[in-house]
Amino acid sequence: MNLPSILGSLSLFTAVILSGTAPAQGGGNHGNQAVMTYIQSLPLETIDASERYLLTHMREEEKLARDVYRVLAQSWPMPIFANIAAAEQSHMDLVLFTMQRYQLPDPVPSDQVGVFANPTFTALFQMATNFGQISPLHAMMVGALIEDLDIVDLDAALFYTDNRDVDTVWQNLARGSRNHMRAFYPQLQSLGVTYTGLFLLTAEVLNIVTTPVENRPVDENGVPLF
Ligand code: MN
Ligand code: MN
Repeated sequence: MNLPSILGSLSLFTAVILSGTAPAQGGGNHGNQAVMTYIQSLPLETIDASERYLLTHMREEEKLARDVYRVLAQSWPMPIFANIAAAEQSHMDLVLFTMQRYQLPDPVPSDQVGVFANPTFTALFQMATNFGQISPLHAMMVGALIEDLDIVDLDAALFYTDNRDVDTVWQNLARGSRNHMRAFYPQLQSLGVTYTGLFLLTAEVLNIVTTPVENRPVDENGVPLF
């Protein structure tokens, strides 16, 4: 496989992402219990339409990541996919936990892989898994793209929301996504591809992958809880 064919497939994948609705999603695995305990200590605040929308959207976007990585884990022997799929499950759990504080309904219709309420996610799931099943390099590219999009969307989510509990979710999902980017980037490097960013600027990608893994759970300002 050559780079132009990869990029051709990628642009199709990207077009669907860009035509999809809007913001939000994330990453962050370690310390879910610590984050939940912290969130429980925070007061319930008024929740506005942006926060409702972003939580609902994010819940399914985390499922998209989890489901894509679950499929790729079955296609390829590398442990990276199963490991990160487990992290995405913890992100789904954290979003749901916070939605339940506000009695928001769970949009996920079924835990089954590839099943979503939002048809955009169904389409993205199909494209990402088709692409990622071509080769291990394609699979790693899908991983970098999912995390790239997550990080950009979570930055937007942080801009649009201000509840401390909701921002705590975004901060920890973003932390997880940066860690996932730090996992995929060197895998791509070892396969001869330098990931330069799609939604992220190249400088932002480099800033992430040249800084240490963030293992400690954080508060709504991104400050480690312990
Ligand atoms: Mn995630
Ligand atoms: Mn992730």
